[in-house]
Amino acid sequence: MKTITSLVLIFSMALLGMKTAHALVGKDLDSMQWKAGVSKIDITPKDPIWLAGYGGRDHPSEGMLHPIWIKALALEDASGKQVVLITSDLLGMPKGLSDRIRSGLKERYGLEKSQIIINSSHTHSGPVLENSLSDIYPLDEAQKIRVSTYSEELVTETLRLVEEALDSLQPAHLFVENGVTRFQVNRRNNAENSLLQQTELRGPNDYAVPVIKVANVAGEILAIAFGYACHPTVLSGYAISGDYPGFAQLELEKNYPGAVALFFQGAGADQNPLPRRTVFLAKQYGKSLAAAVERVLSEGMRPLEARIQTAYSEIDLALSTPPSMETLTAFISTASGYQKRWATRMKDEREQGLPVLTAYPFPVQVWTLGDQPIMTLGGETVVAYALELKKVFGQDLVVMGYSNDVMGYIPSTTILREGGYEGASSQMVYGMPSTWAATLEIEILHEFLRLAEQVGVPKVQSGLLPN
Ligand SMILES: [Zn+2]
Repeated sequence: MKTITSLVLIFSMALLGMKTAHALVGKDLDSMQWKAGVSKIDITPKDPIWLAGYGGRDHPSEGMLHPIWIKALALEDASGKQVVLITSDLLGMPKGLSDRIRSGLKERYGLEKSQIIINSSHTHSGPVLENSLSDIYPLDEAQKIRVSTYSEELVTETLRLVEEALDSLQPAHLFVENGVTRFQVNRRNNAENSLLQQTELRGPNDYAVPVIKVANVAGEILAIAFGYACHPTVLSGYAISGDYPGFAQLELEKNYPGAVALFFQGAGADQNPLPRRTVFLAKQYGKSLAAAVERVLSEGMRPLEARIQTAYSEIDLALSTPPSMETLTAFISTASGYQKRWATRMKDEREQGLPVLTAYPFPVQVWTLGDQPIMTLGGETVVAYALELKKVFGQDLVVMGYSNDVMGYIPSTTILREGGYEGASSQMVYGMPSTWAATLEIEILHEFLRLAEQVGVPKVQSGLLPN
């Protein structure tokens, strides 16, 4: 008797469970009905062009390893609100081009800056863009024209890209989950040339591989947006390529025919893929990253409700006091290469009475897709920002650096204090007049707290940041 009662009880509970589950599925199907559209355009330069990211190259590109792309994923929620994620095999989108693209999208489709993410993979084997790191490239007139024409075409092509993505919107479902892969090495805390002697690597790191899967109602994958926080600096030669993210995207598009794979760069400014410098290593890391994504796609992913919230702002990020004219003059007499070109330009501009930049409009952005928060930062963001934001908003948070405007490195307070390339000398590479002011990290994190509150992203841990 006892057994029968228990069985009845278990059976009723199971029925109840089924009913509840069924009701949930019914409800969720409507609330999870997204619309998604995806597009891609080959942006491989037709003629030899100067490649971006290194000051040491002495001639334009020679051929390519694979084509490079801009890609767009347009999303629409149940209420009709739209966002567009644009990814690119480029070093970084400078403010001038980004602003033109975003105002074009506002004019044509009414999209606000908050609704647009323009992320660059940071490949060091893509073309130089106009008004970006100009002091480090010894361009002749012919190359300057080529860079300017290419940049002009990039704006037109990006607008066409988004048009195609919006035109192809169809009913879809969205899923998210983090994977993991570990080829990034903290390049400030591990010397590349003594790596083989090391049995332990020093962090900090962020090994997460965030994956957003977009499938149509038949369950076929339309788009795979995925990220990693690591410099695409495996390659430094003259062949055009997307570096390891280029190989990762190729691998995923090969393994998921019909799907578009969009890579976004995370807060990888102080992370290098090590060891590096061969095409086979770039392929290896590309395949490792693709395998991490495939694992996530094969296991259960979290479905997202069709609800979009967006917030965006540009904060006046202060720069420190620039070097005096005496310091610049003394520096010019001993410096060489791009550092001399930078100091000479700084001195000339001041002699002409041009104003010296004292602050920069730094872009900060928060999206929520369903309950999934995405936070983007401009510039070459160091990994400390991702770690700090994840402490506050949870480990599932998706962080993108290199978004909307890449104007320089964004060091943490610690790295700013330590100096070195990411903390100090890279400001010359980017043509900035001085280092960032000591308050940058706190200003940026405060702004994220404000925007997160605006769109309702809950904090999982408070008290880390002063209010
Ligand atoms: Zn970089």
